[in-house]
Amino acid sequence: MGLGTSEQAAITSGSDFWHTEGVASAGIPSVTVTDGPHGVRMQASGDDMLAGVPATCFPPAVASASTWDPDLLRRMGEALGDECRAQDVAVLLGPGVNLKRSPLGGRNFEYFSEDPILTGVLATAWVQGLQSKGVGASLKHFAVNSQETDRMRISADVDERTLREMYLRAFHKVVTRAQPWTVMCAYNRVNGIYASEHHWLLTQVLRGEWGFEGLVVSDWGAVVDRVAAVAAGLDLTMPGPDAAGDRALVDAVAAGRLDPAALEKSAELVRKLVEKAGERPAGTYDVDAHHALAREIAGRAIVLLKNDGDLLPLTPGEKSVAVLGEFARTPRYQGGGSSQITPARLDDALTAITAATTARVTFAPGYTVQGEADEALLTEAVATARDADVAIVFVGSVHETEGADRVSIDLPAPQLALIERVAAVNPNTVVVLSNGAVIATRPWDRRVPALVEGWLLGQAGGSALADVLFGRVNPSGRLAETIPVTLADHPSYLDFPGEHGHVRYGEGLHVGYRGFDARGQEVAYPFGFGLSYTTFGYGAARAAATAAGIEVSVPVTNTGSRDGREVVQVYVSLPGSKVRRAPRELKAFASVAIGAGDTTEVRLTVEREDLAYWDTRLGRWIVEDGEYLIEVGSSSRDMRASVTVHVAGDPARVPLTTESSVGEWFADPRGAEVLGAAFAAAAGEQSGGLMSAMTANPEMLMMLGSLPLSRMAAFPGSPLNAGDLDKLVEAAN
Ligand code: BGC
Repeated sequence: MGLGTSEQAAITSGSDFWHTEGVASAGIPSVTVTDGPHGVRMQASGDDMLAGVPATCFPPAVASASTWDPDLLRRMGEALGDECRAQDVAVLLGPGVNLKRSPLGGRNFEYFSEDPILTGVLATAWVQGLQSKGVGASLKHFAVNSQETDRMRISADVDERTLREMYLRAFHKVVTRAQPWTVMCAYNRVNGIYASEHHWLLTQVLRGEWGFEGLVVSDWGAVVDRVAAVAAGLDLTMPGPDAAGDRALVDAVAAGRLDPAALEKSAELVRKLVEKAGERPAGTYDVDAHHALAREIAGRAIVLLKNDGDLLPLTPGEKSVAVLGEFARTPRYQGGGSSQITPARLDDALTAITAATTARVTFAPGYTVQGEADEALLTEAVATARDADVAIVFVGSVHETEGADRVSIDLPAPQLALIERVAAVNPNTVVVLSNGAVIATRPWDRRVPALVEGWLLGQAGGSALADVLFGRVNPSGRLAETIPVTLADHPSYLDFPGEHGHVRYGEGLHVGYRGFDARGQEVAYPFGFGLSYTTFGYGAARAAATAAGIEVSVPVTNTGSRDGREVVQVYVSLPGSKVRRAPRELKAFASVAIGAGDTTEVRLTVEREDLAYWDTRLGRWIVEDGEYLIEVGSSSRDMRASVTVHVAGDPARVPLTTESSVGEWFADPRGAEVLGAAFAAAAGEQSGGLMSAMTANPEMLMMLGSLPLSRMAAFPGSPLNAGDLDKLVEAAN
C-alpha cells in the first residue's frame, strides 16, 4: 500500500475524538465515526461531547427489541443510514449486542435482550439496513460487557461453553450474516485479559472461526497497551491522536517485538474502510418521515402487561381522563451517555392524549421532574384523579446512564406513593412505565387494572403511547427480558457486579428466563409476554428436520374482533440431552399481522447451528442426535402447541484415553468391546482380586465406573496391566 511504518501507526489511531487520521500524500482522507445506536449523535461544535446536532431519536434498543420484528429494525437501520449520509458520517457506532445479564445493568437500555438469538436476529437486520446505505456499523462491545461497574478494568470470568452459547452468540450471528464494517472491542477484561488485547477473541474467534473481514476498533479509551493490542488483532485505536502509542508501534516493529505484518494489516483495513466509505453518496432525509417511523417503531415496542376488564383501549371522547405524573409532560425517552441524541423534535404523552380525545383531559405532575416527593403535588394529583373517569399514571426510572449500574429495580418512593394513592381513589387506573431496564411491578400492579410497559421510546414515544392507549395501534410488543418478582430472584443476583476486579458469571448458561425456568421460579411477567386488544388461537404445529435446521409451521387465528399482531415464538429443548441445558430456549420467532377472524399459517425456521451446544471436550459445536421438542408459544410460559422431531446429530466421538474412566469406556461401543475383552481375558487367568469382586457385586461395578483406566491398572489385583493400556487405547480409537 506504500505507507511507511510511521504512517501505518498514524492511521491506526484517530485524528481526534470522532475522526480517523488521513494521509494526504497517499490519498487517504479522514472519515467521521459517531454514536449510535438509536440516532446519529454528531457532536455539535464546542467541547460538550454530549451536545449533538439535532437528529431523529429512534427508540433505544430496549424498546426496538420489544417489537420482535427484524423488518422494523432493518427500516430503522436504513433511516439511520440516510441520516449518516446527510451528516457525512462513515461509521455509526452500534448496535450494542451485549446480553442483559442483570436487570441492574446500567446500559440495558442500549442492549436488546437477555436472549442471544433474539438479540442476534434483530441486530443483524439493523446492520443490514444501515450498511445497505453505504454506511458502516460498529458491532459492540466485544465481548462480555454486561455491566458498568468497574467497566474499564473488571474481568468477566465466564466458562467457555457459556461464553460461546450465550455471550458470543449474537456477535457470531451478526458477523456471519451481515459482515459489519467494524467490531468495537469492550473495555473490560475477559477471563483476565483485556478485550483490547485478547488474541483469542479478536483474531482466533472473530477472524479465524467467524470469517470477519472488517476492522476492529477500540472502545473509546479501551486500549491499555497499543503494541499488545495490535498484536492481538485490534486495528484502530480511538479516540486519537495517540502520538505515544504511534511511536511505541514504530519502535516495537524496529526492535522486532511486533510483527510488521500485524501493523500493515491494520493500516490496510483502515484504508479499505475509508475507501468503502468514500463510495456513499451524500444525501438528505425527510425529517417528518423519520419521525413517523420512530413513532411506528415506538408503538410496536409498547408492551401491554395487564388489562383487566378491557379497560384499554380508551374510546376517544367517551371518558374524562386524568393524566398524572411529570413524565407525561416531560418524557423519559432515552438513557444517558454516549448514545444520547439531541432529538429533532419531541412528543410528550400529555399533548398526544389531549389531542386524541374530545373528552376532558386534566393533568397533575404528582412528583418533581427529578422524581422527588412533594406532598402538595401528590395531594393535587389524587384530587385530579378522583374527578376523572380514568386515571393514567406516568412513572418510571429517573437515572439510567452509561458508566453506572443501577442499585435497585424498584420505582422511586414518591412514584410508588402516587400509584397507591391514585389507585385508591380511582378504580380505572392505568399505569404507564418509562424505563430503560426492568422495574419491579409487585405488589402494586395487583392494585391497578391496567399496566403499560412504555420503555424509553425515543422522540415520538408520547404519540406512540397515545396511539396504544386509544387503540389506534393494537399493542404487539413483547418482553425481551423477564420481569422478576424481586431482584433477589434473578439468576445473576449472587454474582453481580463482582468485586476486586472480578465478576463471576456464576449462573453460567442460565441467563434470564433460562435460569427462572430451570428453577421453576415464579416471575412477575415472563420473557416473551405481552397482551393485545385481540386474542389468538393456535392450531396444531408441524415440524420437519432439514439439512438447514427445522421447519416449523403453525396456523394462528385472530379470534377477536380487532386486527392485531401476534409474536409467535418457537422454543426448543432436547429431553434426555447428555449435556446440561436450560428447560427451553428461544430458537425462532415471527411477528405476524393477522386480521380479525383470519387464520395465517406461520412458518418459522430453526437454524441447525442454533441447535448446537459447545462441547468443551471436543472444542467444537455439536448438534446432538435425538427427538427435539418444539414448543410454539405466545410467551416463554404460554405454550400453545408442541411437536417432536428427530434431528440427526453430528459425529461427536470423544477419543478414549488412559484417563477415560471405566464408565466412559463402557459407554463407548468400541471401548466396551475392547475393555470387555481385556476383562474377560483377565477373568480367565485369575480368580479372586478386583476382577471377581467387580463381577460379583454390581455396586462395586458402579463405584469403579468412575476410575480412570490408569488408576485401575495400578490397583493390586487389577484385571488390567499398566503395560497393556496403550494397546487398549489404540484398539479402541
Ligand atoms: C462507549 C461506546 C461509544 C464510545 C464513543 C464509549 O464510552 O462505551 O459505546 O461508542 O464511547 O462515544
